[in-house]
Amino acid sequence: MSTTGDGRRELRFHYVLDCPCGTTLTGVSEDEIVQTSFAHLNEEHPEMADHYGRDHILFMARRVVAP
Ligand SMILES: [Zn+2]
Repeated sequence: MSTTGDGRRELRFHYVLDCPCGTTLTGVSEDEIVQTSFAHLNEEHPEMADHYGRDHILFMARRVVAP
């Protein structure tokens, strides 16, 4: 999925995490997706929040190219 050409357009990424409950969480950086995900966990799944760490969130999150 590489682009050709001489444009030096900087690719921007964002992060998407599909929570098992059906909610899609997004963030524009690793820090943000982690923050957003923990906010969601604390609010909706407090029993899960204790079991997840930053690494788990980042492992589950997909990195997608921002349009
Ligand atoms: Zn959820």
